[in-house]
Amino acid sequence: MGGLAAALDLTARGHRVTVVEKKQYPFHRVCGEYVSNEVLPYLRRLQADPRELNPARITRFLLSSPAGRTLSVPLDMGGFGISRFALDEYLFQLAAARGVTVLQRTTVTAVSYDPTTDRHITTLADGRTLTTRVVLGAYGKRSALDRQRSFFQKRSPYLGVKHHLRLDYPSDLIALHNFSDGYAGISAVEDGRYCFCYLTTRQNLKQHGTIAALEQNVLAANPLLRKILTNAEFLYPQPEVINEISFAPKSCIEDHVLLCGDAAGLITPLCGNGMAMALHGAQLASTHLHDFLQGRTTRATLEARYRRDWHAQFGQRLRVGRLVQGLFGKPLLSEAVVGSLRHWPGAVRALMRRTHGEEFGDDLAQW
Ligand SMILES: Cc1cc2nc3c(=O)[nH]c(=O)nc-3n(C[C@H](O)[C@H](O)[C@H](O)COP(=O)(O)OP(=O)(O)OC[C@H]3O[C@@H](n4cnc5c(N)ncnc54)[C@H](O)[C@@H]3O)c2cc1C
Repeated sequence: MGGLAAALDLTARGHRVTVVEKKQYPFHRVCGEYVSNEVLPYLRRLQADPRELNPARITRFLLSSPAGRTLSVPLDMGGFGISRFALDEYLFQLAAARGVTVLQRTTVTAVSYDPTTDRHITTLADGRTLTTRVVLGAYGKRSALDRQRSFFQKRSPYLGVKHHLRLDYPSDLIALHNFSDGYAGISAVEDGRYCFCYLTTRQNLKQHGTIAALEQNVLAANPLLRKILTNAEFLYPQPEVINEISFAPKSCIEDHVLLCGDAAGLITPLCGNGMAMALHGAQLASTHLHDFLQGRTTRATLEARYRRDWHAQFGQRLRVGRLVQGLFGKPLLSEAVVGSLRHWPGAVRALMRRTHGEEFGDDLAQW
């Protein structure tokens, strides 16, 4: 998502861009599919209009403890629900139509920087190389390209699972339901479907053997999750699953490659704004890359300014996200947290503000 947005942005500013994507659009991926409205001005500036995809408009938030105690608050900024299958395909089609070269089913195996020519050399799995003035790394949470980075060396206990459901459920609500060693989000996407996505630990799955057993034995202990799991029609033959999801701090520049989105840092999914951060990171990177490509800044200034702006924009959100995630997962603690916060809705809204940004991209109001 960050890569396609930056490609649209830089193309609109007059640059030639190639996107390399190892899969072929459209495809499903593990994601809660709730997009914070903070992205709307930027999407509008990119002349991308998610309304064309008939998203669900989401205005309310509900949180439940493992025992099913709930609290609910209105969402100050709100968001929309749209599947990644539809949204990524839409951005890809826009990029292709605007002259971006998109190499699909093509994997990047290495990127190196040559200081004598001040160029990057990107090596593809089929042996081809691309020589370019800049490379933006928007390759997500974890890739073979991360092998040398410190977070890659440590195993992460988290795994994510996603289903699409048909269900009789409010379409303006995003709910986050806690269970032992994890939490699940549910919200509407386009065409009357719901995205049901959860984060848990590898250990939890190992203990129960299969995804179905984990859902029956652990998730369904929360009565609100039991109701969803019992009443829903599951639309995928198999859920989408990913593992090794690391929330460890990362750097936003590696060997002169600017990184954006999850490649630079993944916010815990309960904050529901990883996509907004990927888009915002694309905007920051595009602005600085444009100045560099126009000859207005040196590479050293490009990197210093991007690092400074990236940390100013996302540093606190990532820290608060990690802190908040620590409050959930352990049943007794999350019971206590939901039990106290339900009498203190102002605190819930304050926490949300600290894990979200302001609208970005231009100064127009929401659609
Ligand atoms: C369980 C879970 C739930 C979430 N729920 C939400 C939510 O509700 N709302 C929200 O805003 N965020 C959510 N997120 C976070 C969100 O999904 C990410 O922050 C967002 O997708 C990041 O976008 P990106 O552009 O950085 O990476 P991605 O969108 O992951 O794109 C990276 C792309 O790079 C490609 N790639 C990787 N390596 C290579 C290579 N070597 N060569 C070529 N291509 C490569 C991949 O195929 C992929 O298409 C959730 C995350 C998880 C784990």
